[in-house]
Amino acid sequence: MYRPATAHRLAGRLSGPVLGPGDEGYAAEVAGFNRVLRHRPAMVLGARDATQVRKAVAFAAETGLPTAVQATGHGPSRVTEGSGLLINTRRMTGVSIDPVARTARVEAGARWRQVVDAAAVHGLAPLNGSSPLVGVVGYTLGGGLALLSRAYGFAADHVTAVDIVTPDGLPRTATAQRNPDLFWALRGGKGNFGVVTALEFGLVPVTRLYGGGLFFPGDDVARVLHAWRAWTESVPEETSSSLALLRMPDQEPIPPFPRGGLVVHVRVAHLGPGDEGERLVGPLRAAAPTLADTLGEMPYTRFADIHNDPAFPTPYDQRSVMLRALGPDAADDLLRLAGPGSGCTDVMVELRHLGGALGRPAPVPGATDHRDALYCLTTLGRPGGRPDHVVDGMAHHGTGRSHLNFLAGPGTDRPASRGYAPADYARLGEIKARYDPDNLFRFDHTISPRVTAVRTLA
Ligand SMILES: Cc1cc2nc3c(=O)[nH]c(=O)nc-3n(C[C@H](O)[C@H](O)[C@H](O)COP(=O)(O)OP(=O)(O)OC[C@H]3O[C@@H](n4cnc5c(N)ncnc54)[C@H](O)[C@@H]3O)c2cc1C
Repeated sequence: MYRPATAHRLAGRLSGPVLGPGDEGYAAEVAGFNRVLRHRPAMVLGARDATQVRKAVAFAAETGLPTAVQATGHGPSRVTEGSGLLINTRRMTGVSIDPVARTARVEAGARWRQVVDAAAVHGLAPLNGSSPLVGVVGYTLGGGLALLSRAYGFAADHVTAVDIVTPDGLPRTATAQRNPDLFWALRGGKGNFGVVTALEFGLVPVTRLYGGGLFFPGDDVARVLHAWRAWTESVPEETSSSLALLRMPDQEPIPPFPRGGLVVHVRVAHLGPGDEGERLVGPLRAAAPTLADTLGEMPYTRFADIHNDPAFPTPYDQRSVMLRALGPDAADDLLRLAGPGSGCTDVMVELRHLGGALGRPAPVPGATDHRDALYCLTTLGRPGGRPDHVVDGMAHHGTGRSHLNFLAGPGTDRPASRGYAPADYARLGEIKARYDPDNLFRFDHTISPRVTAVRTLA
């Protein structure tokens, strides 16, 4: 249990800041991107390196302190409330690229912008998602649905090694050969198994793409949604896309466009030359008159222009459900739930097209599920809204599971079972019981320890 003296004892072992509520700098240390849910730990460590992480986790193990990790604060689901230890990794931003092996090695606090820029120098790209600000580790531990995932699969499928301090305070490396169970669990099991201090993963040979976005008036949402839905059934794996219904608040710092009323945003990332891309998007452009059209050839380093995710901290309740398919009936159901006249107030209702490489097994199996899903539906609700309304209304088109990376905010702190097939969740529970029997790492989508037999750790 926490006592004030505990913070002094931890601070005595470390050079990074160890702060408690009321200390100067505490508020900045616990602040994250999602302004609706914030950690309030009894103490927070601003970790500078893996040694500090190891000492802090060993300390937590000795004292039985529940421990949370934060890099950027994009994905909190359950937060420390006046107790526990938060390890903030934002200072651990090292990134190195091996152009021969085509791999990147990153520290716990690295963000995608850094990795994309460092890899681009060598004609390579990572399997990053839509936002340059999201943390590489938190994203990848949740599977990582990338901009180029239809061509290359989940980001977690490309991980080759994980350095982690497990809840017993010991540093371990997990690869396909070393600690293979842990390696399986980490690639999809989120923050349940300790603090990852470094991640190594493969890069792909991508320097340019054809992509950007088409913005349509909300009044044309039915035509655009049905056109996009039909179009996704015909495109090759080299083409990834998504469609979002945006209802941005009419306020600063959101740019004048597209804030205000309902706007439909279709995003495209196609691995092919410009003329091929132009032909490919013809049916989308023909769906309705556009408000804006940013499609064209671009260097991969401009990937953030495809989704235009918010660049400033903002409050949101995020939900998701994986869809088996998106037939005309499912599209109509979505229009009833989120289209004009529906009363929907979600800032964003987004469909990402899956399939392609996402439907195939990973080269080395991991805990990332969803190979059977063809679309991912995600909503970003305003605080005080009806965060589950749209995903619940579409559940009958779903696989019964959610992409855990897209569950954040109050009300998402339920056990993580909804992110996995039952057999995978059972296996995760067994691995959790071996590495974290007391569930000290419970501040993410929690996997309950499942004791089936007495096993000792190597
Ligand atoms: C604007 C936006 C765009 C996004 N785009 C995508 C996308 O395209 N594809 C996608 O898959 N997801 C996407 N996400 C979701 C994102 O991947 C998750 O929110 C992810 O958890 C963020 O990780 P983080 O480290 O940035 O956030 P944090 O809130 O700092 O961390 C989230 C969780 O990750 C775990 N974690 C973080 N670092 C470590 C560590 N070193 N060791 C152990 N556990 C750790 C912790 O349990 C923590 O609670 C997006 C989110 C937002 C807000």
